Amino acid sequence: MSEDMIPIRLENLMHFNCNFENECFNDCCRDLNQALTPYDILRLKNNLGISSQVFLKDYTSLHYGPGSGLPVIEFKPNPDAGYECPFVTPKGCSVYEDRPGSCRMYPLARAIARSRETGEITQYFALIEEPHCKGFGKKTGQTVEEWLKGQDVDRHNKENDRLMELISLKNQIIPGKLEGAQSDMFYLGLYDLDEFRAQIVEKDLLKECGLPENLLKKIKTDDEALLNFGIDWVKFMLFGIKATFGE
Ligand code: SF4
Ligand code: SF4
Repeated sequence: MSEDMIPIRLENLMHFNCNFENECFNDCCRDLNQALTPYDILRLKNNLGISSQVFLKDYTSLHYGPGSGLPVIEFKPNPDAGYECPFVTPKGCSVYEDRPGSCRMYPLARAIARSRETGEITQYFALIEEPHCKGFGKKTGQTVEEWLKGQDVDRHNKENDRLMELISLKNQIIPGKLEGAQSDMFYLGLYDLDEFRAQIVEKDLLKECGLPENLLKKIKTDDEALLNFGIDWVKFMLFGIKATFGE
């Protein structure tokens, strides 16, 4: 699919309006090649009221990056519906409140640069103009910043930035392919959170980590705390970096 990437800044006007009256309504949910982040999966499985194991099995496919060995989770294509999202309905998205970060951002792309000295993040944005999307050219008077607020995407971006930081660390410390057990740790600590929790409780998985009791209690009930801990756990187990343990 041909597309144009047009750099845009937060203070610029965003001449874009997506609504159900557009002739392309839902088209962008019917031709997916969409990777899901750990935070996307956390929100979706909780929206559906199912465990991470069931969500991953029923709705996603898994492969490993051929050069990196990192797990890549995508919506599973449906033999009857091709690359259509499993959550698209004639009325729109059935998981709208918990839709993935990339669905919230579209048609914006976001890239970040992190200062090595301060760790401060600078964001860059571009509009992706795809021919099928008829939302462009509509004047709403909204700036990019205002439009982003309406998408409620900050939490996703913050969580996804932690993932990007972890991947960048992996590339520095282990530039080649992860071994099988290392890839499995990534998958368990970031994507399969309910299984991760079960192993913490039943197999005393964290005995080497010296975890404070209050944090241990929190991650037994709070998925977001568990995900933040999972990132620190992978850093500790794979790279030997002393974890902050989500604090
Ligand atoms: S999750 Fe919702 S918004 Fe995202 S592709 Fe699926 S139906 Fe569309
Ligand atoms: S193709 Fe564009 S305008 Fe149409 S529904 Fe998707 S985002 Fe909205």
